[in-house]
Amino acid sequence: MLGNDELVVVTGAGGFIGGHLVADLRRRGHGRIRAVDIKPLDQWFQLFPDVDNRSCDLRERAACYDVTEGAAWVYNLAADMGGMGFIETHKAACMLSVLINTHLLLAARDHRVRRFFFASSACVYAADKQTSPDVVPLKEGDAYPAMPEDGYGWEKLFSERMCRHFREDFGLTTRIARFHNVYGPHGTFDGGREKAPAAICRKVIQAKLSGRHEIEIWGDGEQTRSFMFIDDCIKGTELIMHSLVEEPLNLGSDQLVTINQLVDIAESIAGLRLRRRYLLDAPKGVRGRNSDNTMINEYLGWAPSISLEEGLEKTYRWIHDQLMQVAAGQPAVVNR
Ligand code: NAD
Repeated sequence: MLGNDELVVVTGAGGFIGGHLVADLRRRGHGRIRAVDIKPLDQWFQLFPDVDNRSCDLRERAACYDVTEGAAWVYNLAADMGGMGFIETHKAACMLSVLINTHLLLAARDHRVRRFFFASSACVYAADKQTSPDVVPLKEGDAYPAMPEDGYGWEKLFSERMCRHFREDFGLTTRIARFHNVYGPHGTFDGGREKAPAAICRKVIQAKLSGRHEIEIWGDGEQTRSFMFIDDCIKGTELIMHSLVEEPLNLGSDQLVTINQLVDIAESIAGLRLRRRYLLDAPKGVRGRNSDNTMINEYLGWAPSISLEEGLEKTYRWIHDQLMQVAAGQPAVVNR
């Protein structure tokens, strides 16, 4: 559907998932990739010299027209986002990402882009369906009646609908995945935007290196989540983008764990046990969330399957290397 010599644009390419997507497109032989992010190039997690790398602000309409010129396919992964600590305190900033997707859709329509991907989120689901750690997994239909995560979730739900209406009214082919908690190497692990798996790995590694065998956990640790390793995320993104499925699909693991169990796994990778200190006032997000994978299994005959134990080990090792580099006074490793 997409020839190797046709131009494919990835936005948010300096970030975690976008960087892995560019790496995967290159591996699969795509020769014309344009990678776009607001961050300066020296701050990208992965940067490849044979790619047309651009640094610009995609909230600007003109920038969106510029970067999509000549594109056959567009993957929009750019968003001002982070873990709970970020999205609970930056609601307006999160909602301003609506400008990115809206301007990209307009540009894609006017440049006659053939296919457009939008990275949505499990945060579109109504909060009242996520009040117990003993969860009923979230089905795609649970997004309505709408009461998503304030700020970030509303932006995602609105942008999903924009994709739908551009498809219905203007004939732009759009595909949407609702990512559930993605983790892996080459992502944010400190600075305030990191998510639970990276934060827990970092804290366990720091405790091990410092000899101070204590860890702070946000909430009581009994909140439940599922976490999807990046390789499953990239595979699922490509399957959804290539599919005929027009409605949003869950893309997440259904291996449900408590945050305490996530800490158990990180501790066993590190080979130690830590004293746990629970910060009950810290941002916690919903009480319980899991992905119902019935639809993705039905439509694509596939669902994420990499275990948390396997994925977290790889993530732990990468964050460990980063922290050692920084401790040695060297810049963090960038995949080039
Ligand atoms: P990330 O923060 O690592 O990547 C997002 C990138 O978008 C960043 O590099 C950022 O600089 C860039 N960006 C932000 N504003 C921009 C702008 N105005 N112009 C250009 N670029 C801009 O996050 P990620 O984890 O790689 O997430 C990628 C996408 O997937 C996002 O849309 C996110 O909302 C969605 N998502 C991620 C998860 C997850 O668990 N990681 C879960 C659900 C949804």
